Amino acid sequence: MNGPQVVACPNCGQKTRVRSAAQGVPHCPKCGRALQWLTEAGAADFTAVAEKSPIPVLIDFWAPWCAPCRIVAPAVERLSQERAGELKVVKVNTDLAPALQERFGIRGIPTLVLMEGARERDRVTGALNLNALRQWVEQRLPASPKTQPPVK
Ligand SMILES: [Zn+2]
Repeated sequence: MNGPQVVACPNCGQKTRVRSAAQGVPHCPKCGRALQWLTEAGAADFTAVAEKSPIPVLIDFWAPWCAPCRIVAPAVERLSQERAGELKVVKVNTDLAPALQERFGIRGIPTLVLMEGARERDRVTGALNLNALRQWVEQRLPASPKTQPPVK
């Protein structure tokens, strides 16, 4: 659906191609820091991108016409940076993936679904700002201090 995204390492600036679906968490090849994993999925690649993710996934169900979705978008993007190596963010455009919307029983957007493997942990609907979203995720997925190597 979408090709590899180029992500700049926040530690050393190295630019790396990050694939949507991968066995391992993306890391900077230069300094080893875990990289932001923010991608999109549709019905065809949802299993590979979300369900087979090696780390928990936050699915962002959104649509281009949805105003509250534009509040959530920068918050999930920021969270994917803060939680690099621990949380993958997968955006699903419900206009393009009605089958996924149906499968998850999404009635209103934005809806955020936290998944581990193919299992849903929890979900929240509505325009959460960054602080609210960070707290919501923190309560369900405590940050592990060992994941992120210290910045040298
Ligand atoms: Zn680096």
